[in-house]
Amino acid sequence: MKTRIGLLYGGKSAEHKVSMQTALAVMKALDFENYEVYPIYITEEGDWTKGPQLSAPAENIKQLEFADGSNLPSPSFSPALFQADGKEESRTLDVIFPLLHGPNGEDGTVQGLLELLNLPYVGNGVLASSAGMDKIIMKNIFAQAGLPQVDYIAALRSEWEKDCDKVYALVEERLGYPCFVKPANLGSSVGISKASSKQELEVAFKEAFLFDRKIIVEQGVVAREIEIGVLGNDEPECSVAGEIVPKKDFYDYKAKYEDGDTAMIIPAELTEQQYAEVKEMAITAFKALDCSGLVRADFFLTKDGQFLINEVNTMPGFTPFSMFPLLWKHTGVTYPQLIEKLVNLGIERHAEKQ
Ligand code: ADP
Ligand code: MG
Ligand code: MG
Repeated sequence: MKTRIGLLYGGKSAEHKVSMQTALAVMKALDFENYEVYPIYITEEGDWTKGPQLSAPAENIKQLEFADGSNLPSPSFSPALFQADGKEESRTLDVIFPLLHGPNGEDGTVQGLLELLNLPYVGNGVLASSAGMDKIIMKNIFAQAGLPQVDYIAALRSEWEKDCDKVYALVEERLGYPCFVKPANLGSSVGISKASSKQELEVAFKEAFLFDRKIIVEQGVVAREIEIGVLGNDEPECSVAGEIVPKKDFYDYKAKYEDGDTAMIIPAELTEQQYAEVKEMAITAFKALDCSGLVRADFFLTKDGQFLINEVNTMPGFTPFSMFPLLWKHTGVTYPQLIEKLVNLGIERHAEKQ
């Protein structure tokens, strides 16, 4: 029997568009001999819509690219979204693949919903997703696991509003310039700025607080950016390492998704010992956050040869041209094979919990 897979995409997040691109690519890569595909599209307003079941070859998928759900049933969330249609008795989907990034997708909320519905799903569970989405919680856990990283401090909007000078003074005293100011709960470089002076720091704070009530300020480092893919549940494995070389000052949203001219070097030029070291750190990070399925672990490699963990992404960019799938391609796992592995890992983890 075919596996009935629900693709959950779109979402009420700044990364809506990225999710759409990913969903389209995954739909195209799924083997319709083995899968029945049920698209579930979440609009930018947060409405849930159920698309038509895709059982035909992927040529006509394109229409879904801009699906706004206007003529589709279920304009709000309902468990019926996870029912397969069919002539025989209807049943729930076999597995859900949440192709969502950022808040309300990659942060454990959707994962919690799927847990409550008792549905198997691809990727990280509630805890890893939510801990990985909050850069402060994530870094606190990494620190506890002994992983080296840049110095950082957290700031709440309320304390900044009360006494911003005190917060700026703390940044200058503890971190200095340049520093990076980031919303705590976001990805894709949205809301992130580099500040090299008090003036820039003020602008950076205002910007970051547009996106979150909590921000993280980090010491800026001059470093190479090395990324590695991790795949598995209890016995995770690593891909080859890759390097991103931003053409601009740093790897911002535009460089990531619009210019497409950020160079990716795969495999990254590392010594055998460096590769072994970064792999071990990636596995340590994966286990520290209790991850499952996949993560992309991102590191800085400083001039003096030290790896610092920057972050893990619990639902990394997943188009065929994104780093994570490319890392696996170079490791010998094609895009369709990667999708299949992830689906199986999700089903396996669900079965283990029962
Ligand atoms: P996101 O989760 O949005 O990808 P990151 O923390 O990875 O956020 O930051 C985005 C980019 O900004 C990084 O890939 C890197 O180029 C740059 N960057 C972030 N933090 C630092 C830092 N502390 N020092 C130097 N560069 C940084
Ligand atoms: Mg991230
Ligand atoms: Mg990043």
